[in-house]
Amino acid sequence: MISVQKLVKRYGRGGSGGGGELAVDELSFEVARGEVVGFLGPNGAGKSTTLRILAGFLGMTRGSVTVAGHDIRDASFEARQRIGYMPEAVPLYPEMRVVEYLSFRAELKRVARARRAAYVDDAMAKVNVTDVANVVIGHLSKGYKQRVGLADALVARPPLLILDEPTAGLDPNQIREVREVIRGLGKEHTVLLSTHILSEVEASCGRVLVIAKGKLVADGTMEELARKRRSSGANLVVRGDLEMARSALQALDGVASVTSTTTGESHDLRLLWARAIDDSARLRATEQAVSAVVRAGCLVREVRPERSSLEQVFAELTLGGEHAREDDVESSEAANEGS
Ligand code: ATP
Repeated sequence: MISVQKLVKRYGRGGSGGGGELAVDELSFEVARGEVVGFLGPNGAGKSTTLRILAGFLGMTRGSVTVAGHDIRDASFEARQRIGYMPEAVPLYPEMRVVEYLSFRAELKRVARARRAAYVDDAMAKVNVTDVANVVIGHLSKGYKQRVGLADALVARPPLLILDEPTAGLDPNQIREVREVIRGLGKEHTVLLSTHILSEVEASCGRVLVIAKGKLVADGTMEELARKRRSSGANLVVRGDLEMARSALQALDGVASVTSTTTGESHDLRLLWARAIDDSARLRATEQAVSAVVRAGCLVREVRPERSSLEQVFAELTLGGEHAREDDVESSEAANEGS
């Protein structure tokens, strides 16, 4: 449904020759019909810029983008007809009533007069704003306004919805309502939505594209992203001679530090690996730690791995944190290409 190849956007006077700010840097991805894809990245990553280019609101510096097979430069009208776009700040007319506004927007989007009322009713029903159809938009809460923006995006029944930060600025209840609406829309539309909130993607999307500084740094399902979680250490609860256990652990390869607390006859030993490790390395390191403690004459009561959170994975991918390693990103991309 969407194909983006080596997309580059440079703002400012630099043009294609360089010099302006590079907001999107050789970005390539595909979205298939029926997918609900989250476009995730920190502020300034280039999400809005990419979505505005896809929606035909902003020119690109270089690259190619097609929507349902139509090139957005050569066949801009055909591409745009297939897209319902909801910008970050929805430009609603505050003095109009909801139903009037949506009819006006349907007319602009060339919905035939005979079909307009049915299309507007249908869009209002899908986003649950039928009860405020005759309310002046300026009097609505932010959550309702956001849903009117969604109704606007889908009023001409486009197969593809592009939503830029659809829950930005909403309270938790409104966020839940909008997420539910988006999940429902995913049954009939292909959806690409941007967000800088990880839980947003978990709640609404089957797949996530993570971008940072205009580049794609991960592409896969939430489970695939979760698999990037790495182990930073382990907790062993043991009984026996604390010093023997501690020095046995400290002597192991790959152990950076060992700290302990004692409760009754149990010693809680906290190990930190010298570097974050993946699941299979974690299992081997844990086996070695347990046998070292046993060889030191102690009994093991409990073993708990410590793993980084999904938030840490996101931070590592997008900020290039000290544990982030290029080879991880490359191997995940290679895996995705192979799938
Ligand atoms: P946010 O979540 O804050 O909206 P984003 O991921 O959508 O961030 P963009 O708004 O696409 O990021 O911005 C990407 C980069 O391009 C940023 O460095 C931003 O400062 C710059 N930028 C965005 N719009 C313009 C513009 N009109 N002129 C010049 N630079 C811009």
